[in-house]
Amino acid sequence: MKVSIAIDGPAAAGKSTVAKIVAKKLHITYIDTGAMYRAYTYYCLEHGIDCQDEAACCAVIDEVNIELLPGDKVLCNGEDVSEAIRTPYVSSQVSYIASYKDIRLALVEKQREMAGRKSVIMDGRDIGTYVLPNADVKIYQIASVETRAIRRYDENISKGIDCTLEEVLEDVRKRDYIDSHRDFAPLKAAPDSVLLDTSYLTVDQVVDAIIEIVEEKMGKEVLTLNG
Ligand code: C5P
Repeated sequence: MKVSIAIDGPAAAGKSTVAKIVAKKLHITYIDTGAMYRAYTYYCLEHGIDCQDEAACCAVIDEVNIELLPGDKVLCNGEDVSEAIRTPYVSSQVSYIASYKDIRLALVEKQREMAGRKSVIMDGRDIGTYVLPNADVKIYQIASVETRAIRRYDENISKGIDCTLEEVLEDVRKRDYIDSHRDFAPLKAAPDSVLLDTSYLTVDQVVDAIIEIVEEKMGKEVLTLNG
């Protein structure tokens, strides 16, 4: 049985954390679309391109080859950028890059290609609305902006990324604003998505809730999927 699960929602809502666990439980592939926008942003920054200059950012589309490998590995033109794309500076610029239609079209094409071949759980901002409009299960994961900022701050500190809670809060607010106000494929809940508020849930509870939603939609045998 092939299954596709879309998880969308605002920044730092814990989508990737739970999507990775759900992927393991269902033996399906996790696709982190945010990592692709981050890798593109990293490339622009490394090449001295102003991320607010749409024409300059789009001009290098053919130069940027992004690959997602097992184990959360992200390659940009063969270079392992898995950690470099998580810095606060990349976070602060990525929403500009993600607002450019030509870049989105190029990355969405790759995302659809990856999803076409196998069972996937894909997280992002426009998966249920644009990338996989026919996904079997669509979840829109939210939490209060304060909760999300605290979670991301704790995550950063545990990874040794230097930041303050105020900076993270500002970054999350700014990204949500840009992501939900862009013209093309903005952040929004698909009308047929299930809203999941994780503000007062643990990671395990969110994972269980998602598995339950998937089982309800696809049947219990979904747990025996093997990709
Ligand atoms: O998921 P993550 O927070 O790593 O995504 C980084 C940024 O990439 C988001 O703030 C958003 O600007 C962009 N993004 C997007 N569409 C997606 C995934 C991410 O616009 N499907």
